[in-house]
Amino acid sequence: MSENLANIAYIGATILFILSLGGLANPESSRRGNFYGILGMSIAILATVMGPQITTVGFPLIIGSLVVGGAIGLYAARKIQMTQMPELVALMHSLVGLAAVLVGFASYVDTAIVLMGVEKSIHEVEIYIGTFIGAVTFSGSLIAFGKLSGKIGGRPLLLPARHGMNLVGLLTVIYFGVQFIAAPDSQTGLMPLMVMTVIALLFGVHMVMAIGGADMPVVVSMLNSYSGWAAAATGFMLSNDLLIVIGALVGASGGILSYIMCRAMNRNFFSVIAGGFGTASGATSASTGIQTEGEITSVSAAETADLLRSAKNVVIVPGYGMAVAQAQHTVYEMTKILRALGVNVRFGIHPVAGRMPGHMNVLLAEAKVPYDIVFEMDELNDDFPLVDVSIVIGANDIVNPAAEDDPASPIAGMPVLQVWKSKTSIVMKRSMASGYAGVENPLFFKENNRMLFGDAKRMLDEVLGCLKS
Ligand code: NDP
Repeated sequence: MSENLANIAYIGATILFILSLGGLANPESSRRGNFYGILGMSIAILATVMGPQITTVGFPLIIGSLVVGGAIGLYAARKIQMTQMPELVALMHSLVGLAAVLVGFASYVDTAIVLMGVEKSIHEVEIYIGTFIGAVTFSGSLIAFGKLSGKIGGRPLLLPARHGMNLVGLLTVIYFGVQFIAAPDSQTGLMPLMVMTVIALLFGVHMVMAIGGADMPVVVSMLNSYSGWAAAATGFMLSNDLLIVIGALVGASGGILSYIMCRAMNRNFFSVIAGGFGTASGATSASTGIQTEGEITSVSAAETADLLRSAKNVVIVPGYGMAVAQAQHTVYEMTKILRALGVNVRFGIHPVAGRMPGHMNVLLAEAKVPYDIVFEMDELNDDFPLVDVSIVIGANDIVNPAAEDDPASPIAGMPVLQVWKSKTSIVMKRSMASGYAGVENPLFFKENNRMLFGDAKRMLDEVLGCLKS
């Protein structure tokens, strides 16, 4: 394929990726968005493999890698449970970071690339920055994978003088950057590049280890953004325009998403990155007067069905437990029956419910819940005093009143769905265990709250049975 034809294919792929992002912005057009993305990526791969940069010697190697990589991807996609998606995404981000690091080193030692003067310096700056972003993305995403999969504890690791350490790290990276650019040959330059890579890897680990409580979503979307910038940096190193454009698209959209999430969680973006939010500050609920022990009132499935049947307004708040139990289809079955009885049923979605952005929307869409009864937290929060029954299905942190009432809470300041303001709230979960942020929930002890203990799917099946009879 000639260079011109490859460029035309790249432009087509870029347009398809932009259309894809546009489509993914809305659940109704997301299928179309996905299709555009698949088409764009197929064109991009074909144009690259058939393009002028690939020699016939490299062709079998690329086909072999495509087959092996494709087979691993296919196996992972079939094997991974829906609840493991967030950690899979984190792992994928780490691969983008690793690729940027490898490309950085390879293009530095590649003797076929002969550049002089300013061009050489620009190429080296690209390598240095690209490798840095790649290494931070790689190690940070691996730690995020560990935290999301529960292999690493969720508590933040707050080293003393951590901000000072970050600053010293940054200054060292700049110092070695100067050494790298000034190096007369790639033999001498390799050392500063390696030192910087080690510092960047440590920085990625430190950054994500310092994040605690409910702030992981921001870091996950930030790493998504970094992986985009790492891909763009790889594009610069390889002089591949498509990678630059697509990387910038992912980087910018990930950055915007992180900002939106920070706003939704009432967090300062830079404070989250610097670490320390969501810390166990040492203040117990007892010391702040927030009740996290005492009497709780349990209900049975039959009592829950009665409460729901006699209600006029019901709000369903799904959380991570609904994803674990795969209860979304039963939830919708119950919704249909209640709506047929004339009950106004709405869903309340918290921006960080579940374990990835839009997690609940995806599950509800899969169960074919109509979009017009699914509301964002802000659209619903003022209505809770008029709600007869709020039913919380496997959610915890996102309905924790301590976020509003307890300034010492690790999740203080995070907006939550105010289910306790409804006449009755029913929390459906298996035990008194805490949620992702690891904090106790005073909602369970409120007078107007009822606990329906058990697996969400099993309990909803029972409620459904009672509603049907
Ligand atoms: P939480 O993690 O706060 O709570 C989920 C609850 O579900 C648990 O308390 C658990 O209690 C219950 N549960 C688990 N399995 C089942 C089951 N089979 N049946 C019934 N209940 C079950 O989830 P939320 O959705 O309320 O909040 C999300 C949290 O995750 C926030 O802290 C958020 O910051 C964090 N997070 C979100 C990300 C995102 O992008 N959305 C990414 C990373 C983290 P029990 O064990 O007693 O059943």
